[in-house]
Amino acid sequence: MIAVPLNNIQASKPQLLSAPQKALRKLGLLHPIDFALHLPLRYEDETSIVLLRDVHEGDTAQIEGVVTACEVRQSGQRQLLVTLDDGSDTCLLRFFTFYPSQQKTLAVGKRIRSRGEVRGGFLGLTMMHPAFQAAGGPLPVALTPVYPTVAGLPQAYLRRSVQNGLAQANLADATELENLYQIDQRPMWALRESLLFLHYPAPDVALVTLEDRSHPAWQRLKAEELLAQQLSQLQARHERAVLKAPVLKAIVVKSAGGLDSPLPLPQRLLSALSFELTQAQRRVCAEIAHDLKRPVPMHRLLQGDVGSGKTVVAALAAAICMDAGWQCALMAPTEILAEQHFRKLISWLEPLGIRTVWLTGSQKAKERREMLALIASGEAGLVVGTHAVIQDKVVFKNLALAIIDEQHRFGVAQRLALRSKLGDVSQEPHLLMMTATPIPRTLAMSYYADLDVSTIDEMPPGRTPVVTKVVSDTRRDEVIARIRLQLAQGRQVYWVCPLIEESEALDLRNATETHAQLSMVLRGAQAQVDASATVGLLHSRMPTAEKKAVMNLFTSGQMGVLVSTTVIEVGVDVPNAALMVIEHAERFGLSQLHQLRGRVGRGAAASACVLVYSTGDAPRLSETARARLKAMMESNDGFEIARRDLEIRGPGEFMGSRQSGAALLRFADLATDSVLLEWARRVAPLLLERYPALAQQHIDRWLGGKAEYLKA
Ligand code: ADP
Ligand code: MG
Repeated sequence: MIAVPLNNIQASKPQLLSAPQKALRKLGLLHPIDFALHLPLRYEDETSIVLLRDVHEGDTAQIEGVVTACEVRQSGQRQLLVTLDDGSDTCLLRFFTFYPSQQKTLAVGKRIRSRGEVRGGFLGLTMMHPAFQAAGGPLPVALTPVYPTVAGLPQAYLRRSVQNGLAQANLADATELENLYQIDQRPMWALRESLLFLHYPAPDVALVTLEDRSHPAWQRLKAEELLAQQLSQLQARHERAVLKAPVLKAIVVKSAGGLDSPLPLPQRLLSALSFELTQAQRRVCAEIAHDLKRPVPMHRLLQGDVGSGKTVVAALAAAICMDAGWQCALMAPTEILAEQHFRKLISWLEPLGIRTVWLTGSQKAKERREMLALIASGEAGLVVGTHAVIQDKVVFKNLALAIIDEQHRFGVAQRLALRSKLGDVSQEPHLLMMTATPIPRTLAMSYYADLDVSTIDEMPPGRTPVVTKVVSDTRRDEVIARIRLQLAQGRQVYWVCPLIEESEALDLRNATETHAQLSMVLRGAQAQVDASATVGLLHSRMPTAEKKAVMNLFTSGQMGVLVSTTVIEVGVDVPNAALMVIEHAERFGLSQLHQLRGRVGRGAAASACVLVYSTGDAPRLSETARARLKAMMESNDGFEIARRDLEIRGPGEFMGSRQSGAALLRFADLATDSVLLEWARRVAPLLLERYPALAQQHIDRWLGGKAEYLKA
């Protein structure tokens, strides 16, 4: 038993917690069930004693023998040297730190059990700092778990806590559900049995089935987790189904003559566009329009590759909303992106008589007040901005549709806040989320039980695919020559420097240096002062006004090269940019690289993306870095890239909150567990309908406080 009962940890004041208790909190381990679900990273086999003559170098072995020598060597580095003889061979135990009490335990003649990695060498078999105790104690019957831990939390303490958690948690299977936990007519393992096995596996288990999580105990756990996800999403869907949302259908005003009634706003917007919608855009527009006409809140994810034309779809959705006499809000994760949306939307909608306003954190107080007044009075039909749009002070007259661009960048809390913006508590706004980091369609459809998914799977016509090259940074000169060529043709160039997470300062230096270098060489290239050769710098810590000024120069074509950190990652649209150089491309994630590449190839000109890699001091690139760069060379298709990403990184990471903001799977793996996912999809509705209380219990057990978030 640990000193403080588990369920008291939460209640006691933080300063009264011991270091290990604090560490447990840090790991999110509070309730018995949290401990029960804290699964080992790996296992150690302490179930048997081996003979030294059977041990191979590099093995981790447990031996028992008699101490035949024990001395402290003073020459060189002070160390304790103990020789252990088990009758088959001898082994030297070496300790660089040791206490007198340990010396006593290890005195000549004592029988010792010692466990550690065995190395060979000049002195024969050796163990460095092995774990040891007096020989002859009982041997464990199961493998010993090694848990993920943090500083200040010893394994032994954690092991005891987990053991307690397992004893206290309610892990009994409800008898009513027994025949639901079956796959292909075969019953799954029980939950308690599965957890006990995963914490304390029998020594004869095929370890590989634990590692690849194919063991029946793992199957049961993953099935449970997926079921919880499906249940909570289904529940959210049901909850929403009884909520009301404004019906967004064009108001048909019949004038006396019946002739001068204006065309609906979406139609007018469509005819004002300089292009025709693609087939895919038309399809997703129809899906959205269909949802908006219904009196329940839409909850739709619009996914489409970078450049597939999601903005115009958003504009059409907004037009439907405003045509019905309601307000619409569009939010983007960064100010640059929000401003770009704003400009585009204003150019489309203002000529049609729609008042579009702009709201950000950096606005002057006076301007902001004016905007807020326009929003409150309903004069502003469309509000575009960053998170500022959902701050408390912003009161809408009648918000009916919220559009969120790049939803994975939007915190869950913000999405929740948005819901409270309708004013009328009996109704909820419709929600359209847009993302350019798609997950494969079939996955999306089956996983997001709570989302409807619309997919734009076609690019607007007239694009020439971006050619991707991978070059070593020793060939920087060639890259610069390419830039010159582009500039000479009147094209523009992006140069992206990596984000170095540990050090923003380094990051900045990198971008600043590159900027200085490019400014110098490119100025030298063109003797006459040529505005197009101007090299600009953009990074996240610049004041907003400066950022905007730089962005404006680049957008308007007055700046030839834009050196930036990853602030341009999402959504910037400058069709004249035809070359994208990404420095230290090996440091970027695959979807990020693809997003960046999507900044070029937006006009008719043939465009290229040059991925410059550096191996630094290492002899070569890591395998995953190479796989990413290779995927970039071989494919331009966001869905294919997403699939490769899944392969390279493994879906745990892929589906992590960083990516989608929605999925929080710990155990299951969507790529390999499709059978279990199908099972969960089938069982969830049954469970919810027949045993709502048990369903709730299951959700609570698995998601605890997280369930609210998953629904958002
Ligand atoms: P994303 O899906 O990445 O947000 P955007 O909405 O920024 O893409 O669209 C990329 C570019 O393609 C924009 O310049 C946009 O005006 C243009 N575009 C969108 N739809 C079409 C279309 N059907 N035909 C031609 N150009 C289009
Ligand atoms: Mg976009």
